[in-house]
Amino acid sequence: MSIVLPYAGIVLLVGPSNSGKSTLLKSMIEKEEIVSSEVIGSDDFRIMVSDIEFIDWRDRAKDEADSLMDEYQAISGEAFSVMDAVIEARCRLNKLTMIDATNLHPDDRKRYIAIAKKHHVPIQAIVLDTPEEVLLARDEGREHPRGKRRIRQQCQTFKREKRNLKKEGFSSVYTIKEAENLEVSRDTNPL
Ligand code: ATP
Repeated sequence: MSIVLPYAGIVLLVGPSNSGKSTLLKSMIEKEEIVSSEVIGSDDFRIMVSDIEFIDWRDRAKDEADSLMDEYQAISGEAFSVMDAVIEARCRLNKLTMIDATNLHPDDRKRYIAIAKKHHVPIQAIVLDTPEEVLLARDEGREHPRGKRRIRQQCQTFKREKRNLKKEGFSSVYTIKEAENLEVSRDTNPL
């Protein structure tokens, strides 16, 4: 499969935890298809605003999970507002930004589509469609597992959302089932 990245603008990675968003971006950097400063990730911004690297969601009672979720949402709110300011600055400078976040919720995608429109740059989606059992198996091997409950919830959201993506206003939507053998090139036309 081949992908043509835009010269400038926004590329949204879309996929549940463990679908391989960060791994794909890392391999693109290693192959010099993109440079590391073109990748903006929500995890990095969460750490930047909160110092919290990881929340262990596994084996929590409901009350505890609810209270953790409140804290996580407050951190995410601050993280995304700083992150969006950086993305907008990059769009104003006609730079390419690859957004490494799940982007499963339509409101998040709408916000980035609006930012791209406002700055007259293209916005593309790269959707990682990885089977749920693979996501769950990968979670067990992770240093910081996301937890089965969270992965299953994200998979439900993903299944619902992936049908709508093509109608949301992206200039192109690529759906990747196997990240191996992916050919990536870049539009060289700045217009
Ligand atoms: P998150 O949204 O939680 O940050 P992610 O979609 O960015 O997740 P990665 O961080 O890229 O996912 O990968 C999560 C785990 O899955 C890692 O342990 C990684 O090594 C493994 N993984 C990712 N892609 C593949 C792949 N194509 N084959 C095998 N393992 C993979």
